[in-house]
Amino acid sequence: MPSLSTKPIYSGKAKDIFETDDPSILRAFFRDSATAFNAQKKGEIQNKGKINASISTLLFKLVEQTGIKTHFINQISDNELLVKKVSIIPLEVIIRNIAAGSLCKRLGVKEGKVLKAPIVEFSYKNDELGDPLLTKAYIINVLEVSDENTLRQITNLALKINELFKDFFLNVGIKVVDFKLEFGFDKDGNLLLADELSPDNFRFWDAKTNEKLDKDRFRQDLGNVEGAYEEMLKRVKEGVNKFSIQPPVNIPQSFLVRVQVLPKADILDPQGQAIEKALMSLGYKDVKSVKVGKKIVFEISSDSEINAREKVKEMCEKLLANPIIEDYRIELVVKNK
Ligand code: C5P
Repeated sequence: MPSLSTKPIYSGKAKDIFETDDPSILRAFFRDSATAFNAQKKGEIQNKGKINASISTLLFKLVEQTGIKTHFINQISDNELLVKKVSIIPLEVIIRNIAAGSLCKRLGVKEGKVLKAPIVEFSYKNDELGDPLLTKAYIINVLEVSDENTLRQITNLALKINELFKDFFLNVGIKVVDFKLEFGFDKDGNLLLADELSPDNFRFWDAKTNEKLDKDRFRQDLGNVEGAYEEMLKRVKEGVNKFSIQPPVNIPQSFLVRVQVLPKADILDPQGQAIEKALMSLGYKDVKSVKVGKKIVFEISSDSEINAREKVKEMCEKLLANPIIEDYRIELVVKNK
């Protein structure tokens, strides 16, 4: 284990981060301090540090079991985790299943409305600005803190993690209302899930009673905050004993791919014109707008259709088509279903 320094390199609202003698490894110390409403409300939740360190450990291990990479290395004491050093993307990735919190405030929706499908939204990690909600264009073209491809990967990962947590927590009588994730790149350029996974950044409701078992008890002065955190640790431990990762999550499937590439409508296509002329001279006077393209057929294996399609789209953009002058269409069929 790397030796431990005593001066934090970063002090967040609930954690202190320390260097170790391995430059690629950091130590995260979970404190009992709690903040809400962008640190306007401050307090202490007894034992929160220990509980959040333990819940984070169990949930990071769960996520790792599905093949998703995280910054977690191990828990070295009640309050401390060793984590891989990452450069954090300054985005709060928020996943919502049920309307609560800022969503209700922003849109006037009633708390508790089950959303038609889970949503992923991004806020700017910036306390001075109050973590404003961002559009993709703001992220890519204004702030320049991420790109299209990374955002697509993050969205896919966030939705996968949501499905995992929804199943996991339902097994122990908990609804996952919403939560916040953070991602970063390690020194080798791997995208890792980072930060913590705890009732500080999740909304958990008891599935039978809708009792709130998360930081909303502190935010809304509902009392028994410690009790709620203790209860969540108990349920997570229960879940770990019950829950088994279903193999299909990562079983690769084979897909047949057909990519059709054609010159764009406004691009001159000499081959198409030649064929059109020849058809005319054969008497087919009613033919027009002939275009000549190509069809590329191959097989690809992937753990999901979404990921396979993403990969093929990338191939089209990079090699199979020239997106400036050609349009492409991708067809995917599962082969071994
Ligand atoms: O406040 P809001 O409704 O947008 O929060 C959505 C989810 O993200 C909640 O589970 C909340 O705990 C979490 N969150 C967080 N840190 C923030 C903002 C939100 O953990 N700075």
